[in-house]
Amino acid sequence: MIGFIGLGIMGSRMAANLLKAGFEVTVYNRSKDKAEELLNKGAKWAESPKEAAEKSDVLFTMLANPSVVEAVSLGEEGFLDSLKEGKLWVDCSTVDPSFSRRMANESEKRHLRFLDAPVSGSKLPAENAELIFLVGGSGEDLEEVRPMMEAMGKSIVHQGSHGMGSSMKLVINLMLGQTMAVFAEAVSFGEAIGLERGTVVETLLGGITTAPFLKGKKNKVLEHDFAPEFPLEHLQKDLQLVSQTAFENNTAMPIVNVTKEIYALAKQQGWSKEDFSVIYRLFSEKK
Ligand code: NAP
Repeated sequence: MIGFIGLGIMGSRMAANLLKAGFEVTVYNRSKDKAEELLNKGAKWAESPKEAAEKSDVLFTMLANPSVVEAVSLGEEGFLDSLKEGKLWVDCSTVDPSFSRRMANESEKRHLRFLDAPVSGSKLPAENAELIFLVGGSGEDLEEVRPMMEAMGKSIVHQGSHGMGSSMKLVINLMLGQTMAVFAEAVSFGEAIGLERGTVVETLLGGITTAPFLKGKKNKVLEHDFAPEFPLEHLQKDLQLVSQTAFENNTAMPIVNVTKEIYALAKQQGWSKEDFSVIYRLFSEKK
């Protein structure tokens, strides 16, 4: 039996693909309404994280941030003490590498196994089982869950020991957040100096300086529709984790530290739950 805790934008779609591939899945989410569709598709409901863990051979989590993962695993009603000895916890949440190593350690203390396995890819890749899994931990444990990851993703990359999956994820999101901010700034600069927004966007997307993912943000910027695929609050959290991790590793990150504060300003505007491409509004809206 697979357990799945955290049925937000990503987790609900990942769990749906496990069911589609024929796995038996028990799900738990703080807000039960998000589980309804999965329950109709045959998932079993657990009343608590503990109950999900008791029933699971492999337990996936896809939660908002390190504090939430910590509360749900080690808090008062936490699941970690309820997984049976030898079972495997796969944390797909985006967290920092030190946190993943601490969770690996907490798992080992309880004679459990652990993988950090954050994913690259957003709402649509999650829906279409096209995620890229970035895995830290033992190769043997990875082989055990490979068929499950294959049901949810298109590739699986073993990055090394515990924490290395989370490390690679932070490298990717550092590029993602900064690239989006630069694109937003470039488009609004073009508009400010008299170019038409659509022309700037089309020309940039047709050239070599623009990252491929920005094609998926085209309509958001053109139509000001910032319905979330990747909520801004999570991207801002990821850049904060990059900054913190850089400090721990004695390395300077001057650019990311500015960019993360730009996202913090967007958060102060009340845009936490919008797609992170909403950063464009910060540059383009003038009083
Ligand atoms: P989301 O839709 O905001 O879902 C967050 C999940 O965390 C929900 O299940 C939510 O439960 C749960 N949660 C939040 N606060 C909680 C708390 N205090 N106690 C218990 N549960 C809590 O986010 P998402 O986009 O699926 O992202 C999930 C993780 O994947 C994040 O770490 C994110 O950085 C990462 N990620 C996201 C994307 C993306 O494009 N969206 C891509 C790659 C990785 P409720 O439903 O009850 O709120």
